[in-house]
Amino acid sequence: MQRLEEKIRRDGVVKAGGVLKVDSFLNHQMDVAFFGELAQEFYRLFGGCGVTKILTIEASGIGIACITAQPFGVPVIFAKKTKTKNIAGEVYTSRVESFTHGVTYDIIVSKEFLRPEDRVLIIDDFLANGSALLGLSKLVKDAGATLIGAGIVIEKAFQTGGELVRSQGIRVESLARIAGMNETEGVTFVR
Ligand code: 5GP
Repeated sequence: MQRLEEKIRRDGVVKAGGVLKVDSFLNHQMDVAFFGELAQEFYRLFGGCGVTKILTIEASGIGIACITAQPFGVPVIFAKKTKTKNIAGEVYTSRVESFTHGVTYDIIVSKEFLRPEDRVLIIDDFLANGSALLGLSKLVKDAGATLIGAGIVIEKAFQTGGELVRSQGIRVESLARIAGMNETEGVTFVR
């Protein structure tokens, strides 16, 4: 998406360790009007798929998931991160390794909100090594629901996640795909 690439080029800051900071419009301050444009693009891609729920992970996926849910007219569920060892039986759970924080944690979703009849679209801000996306897709599978696919704002295509997730037959649509980045030259996109 042209406008998104321009914004990343202009406002994105490449940090050591392969982390892109886009705090001015996505991860800290949120450009809600621009989120509306991203949402329309996700709707163009997935609007005909009979989506009944949007699933994301706290915290940074929540904003974009909520705005995306508006054209779809469906609720958003966000998977909660938990450190609790013994999780009660009324939740689906999976493990996620955090790319940005280097820790592993459990994520949970209440069985009440994810039902076998649901058709689920996962929305997240970034795709890096794919752990968050695979963790979320396991929750959908455990619920017996249908995974329609995943809408990602920024895919770091030089990392392994995109290939890994697509190789499992999951449809992934990323609005910007980064081919490479470094602290001096900035970001290049997949063409
Ligand atoms: P993955 O699980 O695919 O390795 O990483 C995806 C998650 O890590 C996303 O939910 C996102 O919050 C975070 N993440 C991964 N890479 C970046 C990055 O370069 N910048 C930011 N801001 N978040 C990232």
